[in-house]
Amino acid sequence: MSKKSKVAIQKINSENVESAVFRALELINAQSLMKEGQTILLKPNILGAKPPERAVTTHPKVVEAVIHWIKQFNPSKVYVCDSAGTQKPGTTEIAMKVSEIKALCDKEGVECVPFEKTERKIYKVPDPLELEEITSSILLEEADIIVNIPKMKTHGQCLLTCCIKNMFGTILLGNKAKTHAQASILDHFSAALADIYSVSKPHLTVIDGYLCQEGQGPSAGEVVKMDLILAGYDPVALDSIVCNIIGFNPEDVIHLKKAAEKKLGTMNLEEIEVLGSQVKDVFRKFKKPKIRPVSAPLPRWLANYIGKTIFKATVKFNPNKCKLCATCWENCPADAITPPGEIKKGNIPKWNKKKCITCYCCVELCPHEAVNFKINYAKNAIFSWFTPVLIAVIAGLYLLLTWISTF
Ligand code: SF4
Ligand code: SF4
Repeated sequence: MSKKSKVAIQKINSENVESAVFRALELINAQSLMKEGQTILLKPNILGAKPPERAVTTHPKVVEAVIHWIKQFNPSKVYVCDSAGTQKPGTTEIAMKVSEIKALCDKEGVECVPFEKTERKIYKVPDPLELEEITSSILLEEADIIVNIPKMKTHGQCLLTCCIKNMFGTILLGNKAKTHAQASILDHFSAALADIYSVSKPHLTVIDGYLCQEGQGPSAGEVVKMDLILAGYDPVALDSIVCNIIGFNPEDVIHLKKAAEKKLGTMNLEEIEVLGSQVKDVFRKFKKPKIRPVSAPLPRWLANYIGKTIFKATVKFNPNKCKLCATCWENCPADAITPPGEIKKGNIPKWNKKKCITCYCCVELCPHEAVNFKINYAKNAIFSWFTPVLIAVIAGLYLLLTWISTF
């Protein structure tokens, strides 16, 4: 028997999402996991209050198809859960409603519950890279089967959000911001994502590649109709194949490398068996996010220093788009955003460069796509002491070599 990680790629034909989901699951023999009377937890991406056509959240047609597939095995209970990206209580419920996933669950008679409304449990992280423990829902432990239903999107901070990044949603509201603040440099945040996945580890993944986002994802990108469903068990293999489909190098997605390091799966294409369509049949190059944060396997103090100086982004608010809705200042993990003196049209939030940890939460969460970033590397370098020190070291070396050459 093949020991390779199986990844099914199935085209959606004539808008028949259900048939594509069923076929993809059949290709990987997913029915072998299922028994009568199981408790099933579905984890779609319900990042924010966006309608399905914006391709921010998992499309309800994909969630519906997975529910229909599961119902064939007579489960005792099916939960559909997520925790939206903000800290404010009640936002997950709004996101569930606007994404149309709540209405779907009501129609199907399954429970649609924000993770933060379930009993909490602190989990120890096995072989931690960054986090010793995480706070999440008891359902991660109680469910017999966890099905990850991520969306294929670009991501301004992590480059890709799909299988591994989607399980960040099992972290409850304010704890997400805490994780961003604790692991503000991409290498550390990516390691935290691998740690979180290793706790919430799904048994099965069905990727929504029906409507995707390219460019400024995960919420302000352009919608791409890919008409794809992918299924499999190995998140690293699945995300690596997604990278190949959209023309990204999996090696550039740091959390994939961290997850491979944690032995959560393989990035080696020779160890992956692609079933159904092949990558070349469905290839479509995606635009990358314009700005990527610093990433380097540096000691924490040095990475923190460079991230805070040279790669420091400037947050820009668009006064024509900003509705002063408060989402950004209520959810900034570093308290770097405050409301303007007066809440009136044309005013924008205030941003504190010194406090900002460049976590991109404000860009990701702004419901009106009114936040943007700019990095002025030259200005940052001039105003940090890193460059003067570097110049002094080079000048010192030069003088030393000149002096030695005189002998
Ligand atoms: S920038 Fe966006 S999130 Fe912040 S107040 Fe304006 S509309 Fe709301
Ligand atoms: S201002 Fe934006 S990028 Fe900076 S810490 Fe706050 S949410 Fe993160």
